[in-house]
Formats: sequence, C-alpha cells, structure tokens
Amino acid sequence: DFDHVVEALLNTAVDLDSLDPDSVLDERWIKEVVTRSGMKFRWAKLSESRERANKDARRRPPADPSSLKPRPPVVTIMGHVDHGKTTLLDSLRKSQIISTEAGGITQHIGAFLVQLPTGEKITFLDTPGHAAFSSMRARGANATDIVVLVVAADDGVMNQTVESIQHAKKAKVPVIVAVNKCDKPHADPQRVKQELLAHDIVCEEFGGDVQSIHVSALKGDNLLALAEATVALAEVLELKAEPTGAVEGRIIESRTDKGKGPVTTVIIQRGTLKRGCVLVAGKSWAKVRFLFDENGRVVTEAGPSAAVEVVGWKEQPSAGELLLEVESEQRAREVTEWRSYEEELQKLQEEQGAIENKQKLHLEEYRKERAGLEHLTWRQRKRVKYKANRTQYATRPSEKIQSDEPCLPIIIKGDVDGSVETLLNIVDSYEAEQQCQLDVLHFGVGDISENDVNMAATFTGSIYGFNVAASKSIQQLAERRGVPLRLHKVIYRLVDELKDELSSKLPAIV
Ligand code: GDP
Repeated sequence: DFDHVVEALLNTAVDLDSLDPDSVLDERWIKEVVTRSGMKFRWAKLSESRERANKDARRRPPADPSSLKPRPPVVTIMGHVDHGKTTLLDSLRKSQIISTEAGGITQHIGAFLVQLPTGEKITFLDTPGHAAFSSMRARGANATDIVVLVVAADDGVMNQTVESIQHAKKAKVPVIVAVNKCDKPHADPQRVKQELLAHDIVCEEFGGDVQSIHVSALKGDNLLALAEATVALAEVLELKAEPTGAVEGRIIESRTDKGKGPVTTVIIQRGTLKRGCVLVAGKSWAKVRFLFDENGRVVTEAGPSAAVEVVGWKEQPSAGELLLEVESEQRAREVTEWRSYEEELQKLQEEQGAIENKQKLHLEEYRKERAGLEHLTWRQRKRVKYKANRTQYATRPSEKIQSDEPCLPIIIKGDVDGSVETLLNIVDSYEAEQQCQLDVLHFGVGDISENDVNMAATFTGSIYGFNVAASKSIQQLAERRGVPLRLHKVIYRLVDELKDELSSKLPAIV
C-alpha cells in the first residue's frame, strides 16, 4: 500500500538507495516521497518557529468607558447608478459648508472631511456604490457608521437601490435617504418615499425614524440639511472612541506614488496617529514619515474617524487591512515576519492536501493499469507501458523475480526507440538461452543520467548504452558508485559484452 510506504519513509530518514525495490512501484511515486519529505522538513521548521511564541500584533482590549470621547461619523454614499452619487460627493467636497479653506486642489485619497459651520465634522468615504462597501465588509472592515442612500426623485427605487438597502441592513448600518434631483420638473419625492416603504425604509413622515432630505446634488441645494441630518443621527448613535493609546484603524486605499513610494489612506478608529508612529498592516509595516489630508496638506496628527494619507510604508499593504500601532520597528519586523510564516504554513497545508489527492489518483491509475495487464508477464507489461509512453522509463516490476538463479540487473539506454527495442529483443532471446536472469531495471532513450547511475548502483547492476553518451560528471559518479558503464556504437560489440558479463555470473560448469 503506497500510503503505508510513504508514511514509513517519512518517519525515517529518506535514503532512496536503501529502498526495498519491491516497494518502489513507480518513479513518479519516488518523486512524491521526496517532495513530501522535503515538505515535512519545512513544515517542522515552520511549526517550530511558530510555537516559539505567538508574535502577532492584536487589537487592544476594549477601552475604559471614561476615556471615550465623541467622534465624527464615517459615511458611505450608496444608491442606483446615475442617481447622482458622484455628483453629490463632488458638491459636498466643494460646498460652502466646508468651513476650512481648501486652498489646494482636492485629491482623491478615498475619503474627505466636511465641517459644518457649527464645528461638527463628517468623514465621507468617496468611493460610492456598494461594491466598495461590501468588499470592505467581506474583509471584516466595517468602516462605515452611516449610509446615505441616494435615490433620484425622477426615477424612484431601482435594483441597486434595493441592493444598497440590503447591504446596509446586513451590516446593521443606519440609513439616511437623500432624495436627489429634486430640481427636475418631473421630480416626485413623495413617490420615492412611498416606494421605500416596501423595503422597510420608513421615513419620518410615515411615522418611521429614517430621515429623508430633498436635495439637488447638481445645484448644491439643501446639502447643509443633509449634513445636519447626518450629524443628528451620529449623536443618536453616540459614536465614541478613545483618542489616546496605541492607534488602530483601517486601510481604505493603497497605491504607489512615484515620489512617496507606497501610500495608503487610513481611517483612524482608536488613538491618535502622529509622525514617527510605527504601524503594521497585514505583512507590511511603516514608520510614519508624513501624514497628508485630502488637500495634500501636511497634518501633524489624526484622531478617531479622521482619514489621512500615510507615507512611510516599507511595502504596499492592501486596502481593507487592519492597521495597528506597535512600539518599535523591531516589533514591527517581528510581527510581519510572523505573519509571513503563518501564510507560508497555510500554503504548505494546502499543497499537502493537493499532493495527497494526487497520490490517491496515482494509486487508482496504477491499480487500473495493473488490472488490465494481469495476464501478461512482467516484461510484456513493461513493453506495453513503454509503448504507451515512450518518453517515460518503464518501471521495475513489483513482483519479485523468483529464482535462485544468478541475476544480472541492467539498464538499457539507446539513441532512438528502434535501438532500444532491438536491444530488448536481443536480451529476451539471450535470457531464454541462458540460465541467468536478466533483470532490466530500466530502459529508455537518451544519454545516461544521474538517475540511471543511482538506480544501477542500488541494484548492483550495469548500464548498457547504444549510441548514447555519458557526461564527465556522470562517468565520475558511476565510477564512485561502482557502476559499470558499457557504451557501444556497434550493436554486436554491445551484445558480446553482455554475453561475457552474463557468463561471468554463471556458475562454473562442473
Ligand atoms: P452616479 O452614477 O450615481 O454616481 O450618478 P452621477 O453623479 O454620475 O450622476 C448621473 C447624472 O445625473 C449626471 O449626468 C449628473 O449630472 C446628473 N445629476 C446628478 N445629480 C443631479 C441633480 O441633483 N439634478 C439633476 N438635474 N441632475 C443630476
């Protein structure tokens, strides 16, 4: 049973030369054993380093409620295509309700901050649509506190409106409805709110608790009311975080900048990020060199709910990854190394599974092959196999050559199929005449290989080659391992030598 053999081999040091020839069923299988033993070795090394200590960085325990401070809401805009999500984001960005003078050109960094005249802040994630929202969620990154659902008043509830509602519900994120395009002559905001009832979005005028604001994203009408509604909902939600302690956050965007190298936008969820902080995210780490806002201005620090661009990454982290501050660069290296080990370990486990499946297939294949050849002698089987797959060596028969007769193990190599075939025929006919078993370990086309020499050495055999060569290193190997190399260019010389060798094995005639 192959698995049994493999297990036995894996549990001892693998020395291919010491294998019982009858257990070695197929060259492919030997390869599997070697692969698996190598894998087991790597695995053992990995597990060892893994066990030394759990080196991963983790979130801090929940904060003491007394250290929590109110924080701004993080908002995602969702809705059906063409209902005005992008337009709304653009006008919010440019609108007068942003009290801080923007000055520079606003860049797309994945989020931007809106500040009301009263001082309250809102962070808008500026990738609209539920694709981004759900891909973040799939990574366990629920970065959003509130969803602004945009519905065009001239179009009403559509497919993606419904999908957006479902996403928000699944994520347990409350919704504010922005009834958009109210400047249009055919706008019918009432109809929109009625249609939403069917999807469990009950607006205030229907006795529910969902705020709805009539806006025109294009004209910038009523954006302040939308912002105020958002802030009001945030107050109800009592969004809080601690502005002190080790930083935690989420990567919402990751890109490479020609000048700055890997750049990420992060949303801070706990603590306050400053220059010089050491961060880890996935398998990457950073010593923060610069922080920028969406206007490309340097900021000195970023607290909870702020979105900032972080420069200083050694490698590119992925969007969605958890961001954690660690105490030192040394610690960051340790964490990322440990995570890489973890990943490799997982890969190994998958590889191992794949190999086991492959082995099962081999075993089945081998059994099938055998079943069809049961009535043939082993040499006939080898021929059948050889013909079926001329490029591959035939394999050693699994049944023992039963005899007390002297035995001459040989490997036959030829320059072309025809010559190998001829040699095999000659060997067959000689065997019939002689009282000596000729055991053809291997036959095939091509120059003498290291495999041939190792095989011959294992079975104390000789190699016969017709019109083939053996490189200097192969010759040296053969000499070292005591394998006779008998290479000929004339077939009867080869046959003569074979005869001589056979005779020398025969017992002296009494
Ligand atoms: P998105 O696919 O949801 O991001 O929609 P867009 O923001 O790209 O808007 C789709 C189209 O609707 C564009 O031609 C916008 O100019 C237009 N649009 C968006 N908001 C308004 C609005 O408030 N009033 C009017 N009349 N047109 C709008």
